[in-house]
Amino acid sequence: MKELKGIAVSSGLAQGVVATIAPPIALPPELDLPLVLDPKEIETTISRIKNAIEVVASRLDLFATEVDAEIAPIISAQVAIARDQVLFDRICEYVAAGSKAEYAVSKALGVFRDQFLLAGGYLAERAGDLDDLSGRIVAELLQRAIPGLPIRNEPYVLVAIDLSPADTAGLDPKKVMAIITEKGGPTSHTAIIAKSLGITAIINVQGAGELVDGEFVIVDGSTGTVVVDPSGELLKEHELKVRLRTSSQSSSGGPGRTTDGHGVELLVNVGRRADFALAGLADSEGVGLFRTEFLYLDRTSAPELSEQVSAYLELFSAFSGRKVIVRTLDAGADKPLAFANNDDEPNPALGLRGYRITSRNPQLLELQLEALSIAAQATNAEVWVMAPMISTALEARSFSELVHSKGLRSAGSMIEVPSAAIRANLVVGECDFVSIGTNDLAQYTFAIDRETAPLPELLDPWQPALLELISHTARAANLANKPVGICGEAASDPLLAVVFVGFGVTSLSMAPISIPPVRDEISKRSLEICRKAAEIALNAVSAREARELVSLFLAAAPN
Ligand code: PEP
Ligand code: MG
Repeated sequence: MKELKGIAVSSGLAQGVVATIAPPIALPPELDLPLVLDPKEIETTISRIKNAIEVVASRLDLFATEVDAEIAPIISAQVAIARDQVLFDRICEYVAAGSKAEYAVSKALGVFRDQFLLAGGYLAERAGDLDDLSGRIVAELLQRAIPGLPIRNEPYVLVAIDLSPADTAGLDPKKVMAIITEKGGPTSHTAIIAKSLGITAIINVQGAGELVDGEFVIVDGSTGTVVVDPSGELLKEHELKVRLRTSSQSSSGGPGRTTDGHGVELLVNVGRRADFALAGLADSEGVGLFRTEFLYLDRTSAPELSEQVSAYLELFSAFSGRKVIVRTLDAGADKPLAFANNDDEPNPALGLRGYRITSRNPQLLELQLEALSIAAQATNAEVWVMAPMISTALEARSFSELVHSKGLRSAGSMIEVPSAAIRANLVVGECDFVSIGTNDLAQYTFAIDRETAPLPELLDPWQPALLELISHTARAANLANKPVGICGEAASDPLLAVVFVGFGVTSLSMAPISIPPVRDEISKRSLEICRKAAEIALNAVSAREARELVSLFLAAAPN
């Protein structure tokens, strides 16, 4: 038995068998091809490739019979491509020209992939499947672990060094019981998606890279602990905890409210289309952050108007009669979209990301706003639209003008760049509302990468410097009588939520699973107590002190 520690990012208790996800195999540059070829060697290479293709195709064939009806045709298409004679001939040509087996496969499938991309439309959408196939055959040839999400019938605990946005977008909560990664920050896309899916997750786990397929682990998403090969006694204790937890789920409901009736809207964050309907069932007053870029992570061409309208309509219908705050595409940095971020930036988090893309490609935003306007008019949802990565009041003004010109009534700015928080009074003046993105606001305030989080404590949302920017922004919005929300991960910490209410924040948006504990905590406090907690947090010298002092104060505070 051994214990590993990491950062808990999505609570919950889970236990199960490890399935690792291997990183893509990067082939080193191909060396000069031999001038003279040995025919025997060519023959052996071709026969090795033939075998590897057949092993991979048979595995996929079997898998196609076990997956949902929606996915089966995609897998079967991969099998058909793997066994395609034209592809095989092309592979043989590369071998005959002197390439080693893995290079021949990778180059031939690369040619097919480029042709798919060129063809556009549905074929371009499937280009990633060819990369996946190539990765599988190359892995088989080199006898290495297969990259990509594991193919398993039984639920498993997913272990990775890190997960790519495409991998996380494809996660199935019915299969993945918990996620453990060796890298990643508390506000990385892995953490956000895991939470939105309600999957227990621990990141930054030292030693996670040494876990192997089939090992049994217990994962505690509240304490950030992974126990490998637990003793029978520990396992029993864990099972008891799971049962207690399930029976003590929150029973409160309805809008967020302090004991003295001060209302705080509790909203949900959504992204993946597959989650719209379920998110709509959550007991919330609406959507506080719809991350539209999540719909298009694997897209190579920009979605057309009708396609966008249909996606937005689906979400608005699930939230009919409620508020939906849509964020326009936040492409770039950790969420690159192939059709929006085609430049090779050395420092993408500081580059053309979010609203900044408009400077080079205004049509993208125009089209999205048009689609949102059409969808908004066709449903009863109250649609508000906000822009990510607003840095100045002038940007906020241009965005608001554009939103209003499309017939959309409510235009907002995300406050996630320190310059916007510092000048919050001016930015607020240009908007109908603002929403604070604490994930990026922390990243840019402390100049620390939220994806790799080399010093996670600097991304701790209790950092007083971050709290000061939030409080400053909330005050500016309160003075202007405009709504101010928090939609970063910080909103899901119940104690911090109390502090935010004390700052004057009017809504909190989070993964659906986080709403009950936040609602419970707020409902135990008066506005006066929230304000005192806010003052205590602001006056602390460190994140740790802020958390501890607020926690002690609330434990002793009258209800
Ligand atoms: C944020 O930065 O806090 C935010 C909500 O946006 P995202 O996490 O999508 O960058
Ligand atoms: Mg952000």
